[in-house]
Amino acid sequence: MKISKEILKWYDSNKRDLPWRITKNPYKIWISEIILQQTRMEQGIYYYNRFISKFPNLESLATAEEKDVLIIWQGLGYYSRARNLYYTAKHIFHELNSKFPESYEELIKLKGIGDYTASAIVSICFEKKYPVLDGNVFRIISRIFEIKNPIDLNNSRKVFKKKASELMPNTRYGDYNQGLMDFGSMICKPKKPLCSSCLVSNKCSAFKNELVTFLPVKTTKNKIKILYFDYLVVNNANHMLIEKITDGIWKNLYQFPVKMSSSKKNRSEVVKFFLKKYNLDSLSLRIINSKPIEHKLSHILIKSTFWFTKEKLQIKNGLFTTILEDYPMSKLMHKFSEKYHGKYIFSEVKMVN
Ligand code: SF4
Repeated sequence: MKISKEILKWYDSNKRDLPWRITKNPYKIWISEIILQQTRMEQGIYYYNRFISKFPNLESLATAEEKDVLIIWQGLGYYSRARNLYYTAKHIFHELNSKFPESYEELIKLKGIGDYTASAIVSICFEKKYPVLDGNVFRIISRIFEIKNPIDLNNSRKVFKKKASELMPNTRYGDYNQGLMDFGSMICKPKKPLCSSCLVSNKCSAFKNELVTFLPVKTTKNKIKILYFDYLVVNNANHMLIEKITDGIWKNLYQFPVKMSSSKKNRSEVVKFFLKKYNLDSLSLRIINSKPIEHKLSHILIKSTFWFTKEKLQIKNGLFTTILEDYPMSKLMHKFSEKYHGKYIFSEVKMVN
């Protein structure tokens, strides 16, 4: 039996019961695919249900406030995904007369939609023959065909894409793509794959040649960069000073004013920075956490120190609020709030799960 037929047969008896599998609505499939990037399945299900109950259709997302979209996304990370969803929903609503594109070529032009998402949408919703290429598919193909090209190199992509296209069946493209992804996360897993119960083991070159643990190949791991964030905690009679972030991965979220550096700063350097930033004559700071609160992003480790000032600062055009939970904030801000709520801040930065 062909590999694709085996995968479809396996999918029919083992497919996961997931909330987006009951629909072929391209809006909902798009949301699910974007949420699932860089997200564990369990967390993805929670956020999908949360997102869809707030924004059940394209119109509701396109006509929302960006702040409300980011609030729903809080805690999920990689916020550019939420900003792009919002941007693209508006674009489809206003420029495409709310008609969700049905072709790969049209979809790939949209902000935040790449080869993977476009292929997933057209195969699942419109039964078009486009292979998806995610981490699961790279791993399965590299093992079955013993392909040793490093999967994290751009020029390997062509090789895998070609193989993935050749493997596709002539029917049920959406089911096949989803089957391959389920098979990758349940059977051909990154660590300890279940080769003894794998229905394609007789066709798997890595299994035959005992190379499973060596595949797929990756180039050397990226180095983790360390950044130091020094936050200024200003509490003027329970009015907290916050700022809107204007660029970077947390763009359009809010946080306490911060000094970001690639090396650790001492108190006088932090004071000097904020004196200049706010054009102040004096500023006395007390350290809140001598042990940095750490937050890991994909290739960055943030070590953050929070500094408290008792002074009632007069900040021109400063955004002071008594209700922090009205503003979308990063997980790092939530971590601080969880630890120090009640002592330095009295309005909560709410965790969403
Ligand atoms: S035999 Fe093992 S390595 Fe090969 S496809 Fe099956 S689970 Fe993956």
